[in-house]
Amino acid sequence: IIEFKHVAKSFGDTLVLKNVDLEIEAGKFYTLLGPSGSGKTTILRLISGMIDATEGDIMFAGRRINDVPAEKRPVNTVFQNYALFPNMNVFDNVAFGMSIKGKPKNEITAKVTEMLGLVKLSGLENREISELSGGQQQRVAIARALANEPQVLLLDEPLSALDYKLRKQMQYELREIQQRLGITFIFVTHDQEEALAMSDWIFLTNDGEIAQNGTPVDIYDEPINRFVADFIGESN
Ligand code: ATP
Repeated sequence: IIEFKHVAKSFGDTLVLKNVDLEIEAGKFYTLLGPSGSGKTTILRLISGMIDATEGDIMFAGRRINDVPAEKRPVNTVFQNYALFPNMNVFDNVAFGMSIKGKPKNEITAKVTEMLGLVKLSGLENREISELSGGQQQRVAIARALANEPQVLLLDEPLSALDYKLRKQMQYELREIQQRLGITFIFVTHDQEEALAMSDWIFLTNDGEIAQNGTPVDIYDEPINRFVADFIGESN
């Protein structure tokens, strides 16, 4: 569904992605794993259309991504800081994208109810965002992103602000949601344990390049170089 062909990205004189090839199939759970500054967020921003590649091609469902306007790409992002609307209640946050598209009220209500059920927040429709815990806010952010029925959900370190126990719980639930909906998730983390536990396929980034990609078992059992072996073997 998404393909990067020799993609490079510079900001001014700084080359942030050097030569990235990626193939993303529909319906799988992908993780971009790598140290801070290795280019993970830049890859997500290229997919969502927030920035353009300096070199190379990015294809989306067989078309060059630049030919598909950003608002028409069936992609949504869940951010680390949730980015919710603080002055709206839970219902209105989840309904936001559908409301601005002018969807009928009954359709919006049905969708919001379904999405809040999926993230286990049924009954909290009228709560203000400030009255929610961090974990509950993250669930609202996930429900809001899914309510627009994306084919690809981008998740930029969505669990990093949560405590250990909640994080484990959310890892399991995210995986379950992805499988239930059958859409593609592209999840960013610097935590190798999280990546190994959740993913169908891992792209390990290092210094603007893909150091290795493969299934968790491939990468764990057969790291192709010292960097991969050290990074995967590290304990956080
Ligand atoms: P982290 O885990 O810390 O979020 P990351 O792997 O997601 O890191 P990116 O955010 O993609 O890394 O950043 C890669 C590099 O690009 C970093 O060195 C960063 O400073 C640089 N960078 C990112 N955005 C810009 C920008 N708009 N202008 C200049 N440099 C940038």
